[in-house]
Amino acid sequence: MRRAIAVASTSSEDVPVGAIILGPDGSELAAAGNERELTGDPTGHAEVLAIRRAAARVGEWRLAGCTLVVTLEPCTMCAGALVLARVSTLVFGAWEPKTGAVGSLWDVVRDSRLNHRPEVYGGILESECAALLRDFFR
Ligand SMILES: [Zn+2]
Repeated sequence: MRRAIAVASTSSEDVPVGAIILGPDGSELAAAGNERELTGDPTGHAEVLAIRRAAARVGEWRLAGCTLVVTLEPCTMCAGALVLARVSTLVFGAWEPKTGAVGSLWDVVRDSRLNHRPEVYGGILESECAALLRDFFR
């Protein structure tokens, strides 16, 4: 999570969210911050970019055995993407009561109607992750 916080901190104009993907052996496969402002891409959230980069690196769309670590509770798009990518474990920092889809507003990753449900650990280094956003929006 400290690595994800460091990635988030490098963002200058985008909302500071950092995501990393760890392979089954714990090595880092990909890292990304939000790039929505940078690229003008509405889907340019840190989690989606990290998932794309990790899949490109391993050479397939399934990220089974991988862990996504992100500083903020994922939105519906990102929660959906990590289910589609078959990410095994999600670790997130701050809760996002306005858009969160991992328990706050929706619970996309634990919906029993979907065929894949990652293991979830939320609220990790929560206050440090929340401080990133508080400082940005101040
Ligand atoms: Zn998102």
